[in-house]
Amino acid sequence: MELIHQGKVRDVYADGGDLILVASDRVSVYDVVLPTPIPGKGALLTALSLWWFEQLADIVPNHIVSVEDVPAEFAGRAVRVKRLDMVKVEAVVRGYLTGSGLAEYEKRGSVCGIDLPAGLVDGSKLPEPIYTPTSKADVGDHDLPMTFAETEDALGTDLATRVRDLTMSVYRRGSEIALEKGIIIADTKLEFGIDAEGTLRLADEVLTSDSSRFWDAAAWDPGKSQASFDKQFVRDWAKSTGWRPDDAVAPEIPQDIVDATLARYIEAYELLTGRRWS
Ligand code: ATP
Ligand code: MG
Repeated sequence: MELIHQGKVRDVYADGGDLILVASDRVSVYDVVLPTPIPGKGALLTALSLWWFEQLADIVPNHIVSVEDVPAEFAGRAVRVKRLDMVKVEAVVRGYLTGSGLAEYEKRGSVCGIDLPAGLVDGSKLPEPIYTPTSKADVGDHDLPMTFAETEDALGTDLATRVRDLTMSVYRRGSEIALEKGIIIADTKLEFGIDAEGTLRLADEVLTSDSSRFWDAAAWDPGKSQASFDKQFVRDWAKSTGWRPDDAVAPEIPQDIVDATLARYIEAYELLTGRRWS
């Protein structure tokens, strides 16, 4: 198989007309891959995405072709998918305010051109979920916020609207399901692509601890950073070392942080799916 793309987390191979997406154990923070892997993370994210694709199948078609028909060496962390023409927008939706959305709000009172009420703090629930798309940057670049109008210019009004509406539907359904299991999905990023027949499909990974912020609903307490089952833990640790994303060398992750990160990913998987991770 030909390696056609190495993303921060996934290796992408071409196989016939399909792609094989292999999720590695790499972890990236602020678009920088850290030198230490989180063993088992690739398999966890693959399993969680597959579970979500099934839950969401009546809302949106997805790119999965087969879970079994992948090279044995990648079994468990690879999927065979339709090769799609990827939509050049990352479809971000936020139900709660934090991270880069919060930073933008504090500067301007708005996020991606959407005005928000005064007085919101880190972790506030938004009156309504908002669509805050970004560009899809090339390797080494950062994704930049876009207004909906800018996505219309980039994709055409019809496609931009379908991507936005599907994103909101996936978020509403996903966050409803997650909340029943005690998890708030604060925000998430979806990717879409178009197949050879012209069908718009959900691609990449969906509602995982890498692509979303998962918070403990029972501990939710706006005004500070929230207890989370996601990458935020690694982000916070990386920052606490004094490292900055522009520094040449990223720090090795100590074993206790690797273990605690993995424990969070496993907890999210088990809570959401109701299955035991082994
Ligand atoms: P990000 O961190 O934003 O996800 P990345 O490019 O580093 O960026 P990876 O998840 O590591 O992401 O790599 C997966 C790549 O494969 C992404 O570029 C994604 O857009 C692409 N991709 C996912 N599904 C498909 C598909 N069905 N057809 C074509 N490309 C796909
Ligand atoms: Mg990705």
